[in-house]
Amino acid sequence: MLYSVEKVLGEPMLKLIDKLKEMNHLTKEEWMALIEGRTADVAEYLFTQARAVREQVYGKDIYIRGLIEFTNYCKNDCLYCGIRRSNTNACRYRLDLGEILQCCEKGYELGFRTFVLQGGEDAYFTDERLEQIVKAIRGRYPECAITLSVGERSYESYKRLFDAGADRYLLRHETYNSEHYAKLHPAELSAKTRQQCLRNLKEIGYQVGCGFMVGSPYQTAEYLAEDMMFIADLKPHMVGIGPFIPHKDTPFAKEPSGTLELTLYMLGLIRLLLPNVLLPATTALGTIAPNGRELGIMAGANVVMPNLSPSVVREKYLLYNDKAYTGLEAAESVQELRESMQQIGYEVVVSRGDWLGERSK
Ligand code: SAH
Repeated sequence: MLYSVEKVLGEPMLKLIDKLKEMNHLTKEEWMALIEGRTADVAEYLFTQARAVREQVYGKDIYIRGLIEFTNYCKNDCLYCGIRRSNTNACRYRLDLGEILQCCEKGYELGFRTFVLQGGEDAYFTDERLEQIVKAIRGRYPECAITLSVGERSYESYKRLFDAGADRYLLRHETYNSEHYAKLHPAELSAKTRQQCLRNLKEIGYQVGCGFMVGSPYQTAEYLAEDMMFIADLKPHMVGIGPFIPHKDTPFAKEPSGTLELTLYMLGLIRLLLPNVLLPATTALGTIAPNGRELGIMAGANVVMPNLSPSVVREKYLLYNDKAYTGLEAAESVQELRESMQQIGYEVVVSRGDWLGERSK
């Protein structure tokens, strides 16, 4: 009896997954049904399809990015984030140009060909200063990709940094729904402005990454469905998602973490929605489960972003509790990362790891 009930419930789900794979499109109701109706069997089916799609585009290659967290000063006060401005317990730091270049040098030797400069929204890093950093990296590493992840800036600022040599930009949209966005952010930030930044970045010519936290406070299947519709519309080159994890010095200290299970499921759905997407198995995923990154790859991800920041500052860029920054999360352990990827049948490559898209677009 139970078997037949499962079958009845399971089958339309599998059909929806087939439809998503074929059409790269679903209605909001279909997204909600897929998210709310998921079971372990449905997930297994999804991951098999997601791996097949990912392998058609990227083979067994895993792209690595060296993450340089160059400042944890932030003028914003996002309710979930450990480096929000009102967290007076955060021990603030910023790296200077020489320190950033040292990170790149170390990363280059380890086989990284993409450097990701991520930080809080730190007014110290004016357009002039960021431009100087981008130009210095571009001059020394002409064959490497430079990715910026420094939050919301003006169109002119994004353009100037692009002209200085930046190739990619990561700016998670965090959540598409304006009401949900307002519950996670202070009043001066809005979902619409964030989305406009992403459109500006794309228009300028960056490879663009949006994304969201899975299991953030107040999130519903409907909001996740809206995130998927936004991603379908924006068509970003990259999508960064990871579980929400509480930070003890934020208003969300007592909120539960997002789950491994739902994060993996969303990764699989995103791979089917955008077959060519660059999809990282993120640090947050590696933090909530020791094999989180490998499971992320098995669900359809194809990128990992180990930490290249100087060891002394790693423990200070704490967006959430217990953030992983040793072991496989550390760039120095890239050899272990290679081995762990080989064990699951994948190959870390020395490459810029650009988006492989349809040439006509
Ligand atoms: N200031 C930059 C970088 C933000 S940190 C920007 O605005 O883009 C990078 C990402 O970490 C954020 O976009 C957010 O999605 C994620 N993050 C922040 N706090 C988190 C938490 N408590 N749990 C999980 N992810 C978090």
